[in-house]
Amino acid sequence: MRVLVYGAGQLAQMMYLAGVPLGIDVQAVDVKDDTVVHPVSKRPLEQNLVQAIESSDALTVEFEHVPERLLEQAAKTDKLMPSMDAILVGADRVREKHLLERFSIPNCPHRIVTHLDQLDDCVKTLGDKLIIKASRDGYDGYGQWRLKDASQLESIKDALSGLDLEAVPLVVEKMLQFERELSLIGVRSRSGEIKVYPLAENLHHNGQLHVSVAPASQVSEALAEQAQQIFTTLAEGMQYVGVLAVEMFQCGEELLVNELAPRVHNSGHWSLSGAHTSQFENHLRALVGLPLGDTRALSPSAMINVIGCSTFSRDLLSIPGCHLHWYGKSVREKRKMGHINVTADSYAQLGEKLHKLSGYVP
Ligand code: ADP
Ligand code: MG
Repeated sequence: MRVLVYGAGQLAQMMYLAGVPLGIDVQAVDVKDDTVVHPVSKRPLEQNLVQAIESSDALTVEFEHVPERLLEQAAKTDKLMPSMDAILVGADRVREKHLLERFSIPNCPHRIVTHLDQLDDCVKTLGDKLIIKASRDGYDGYGQWRLKDASQLESIKDALSGLDLEAVPLVVEKMLQFERELSLIGVRSRSGEIKVYPLAENLHHNGQLHVSVAPASQVSEALAEQAQQIFTTLAEGMQYVGVLAVEMFQCGEELLVNELAPRVHNSGHWSLSGAHTSQFENHLRALVGLPLGDTRALSPSAMINVIGCSTFSRDLLSIPGCHLHWYGKSVREKRKMGHINVTADSYAQLGEKLHKLSGYVP
């Protein structure tokens, strides 16, 4: 069996590694030049894209910003999972908000803005603490502006004046005071089977995911139930196939959905060590129609991103339960170079191990 992934980064690499024991061959498409490459070595393979599509049982993506012409070509085959519509929801905050509203899923109070004058109205209705997001091509905190009080409105308008808001509207959200950020990774298979992982708690640094802890501590049954319900509504509503990540804010005992990622997700990497079945394995199982694997956690675990550096001591592997996942990319500032998974017998012990790890990785 074969799965073709659009995108040839670390997520395709980890899907490839998960595919080996299942007998599923994973190939990747470098979307810069449409070449079909090996997901680990990135070397071009013999086949061209058309041949690779024909010889694959399923087509999937490792990021939502795949050029639309490639998505259209893939969608024509009926092998693209998740669907093109689901992928485009992840690539466009306006579509995302419409979807959440359509399924009555609680999300952040917001307005869609296509003209800068509408910002005054946003301040009136949402308050003067706002987070303004470009509806497309933003990630890791890029493409966002924060209004801290009304006096900054004019300077923010200046900063935004060059944008074509008719083409790419802004999504303006109320700045929320939330308890914490949680994410839900779930999977729905071709046959409609659904499983969700325990919630992960995410800590960000400079707009980028830094650490995930899973299962998140102190999750009430009611909260876990809410998360499961949100996932089921979305996955069934979209007839979704594959892993879907849902980023959420916890406000009191309520979950508000912030973002959807129609793919395996950084906040699910802990599952490689901390769960019975990794998100990568479950994504592949879902795509080719195999039964889904157990998503329960094995122990408290954490994932730490290694960002923008490669020169740390690998002696960190002497910490019991520590595993390094290196992506083999050239170093660049703010680039995710790899991650470290660590498991522990208790949250207290997990805390100690994280403390030790912070001495190794910045
Ligand atoms: P991306 O991950 O694509 O950069 P997000 O919408 O997830 O964009 O925003 C990045 C981070 O900014 C979030 O993880 C959260 O910490 C913060 N943030 C986003 N929206 C809000 C909001 N409405 N209120 C408060 N903080 C927010
Ligand atoms: Mg996000």
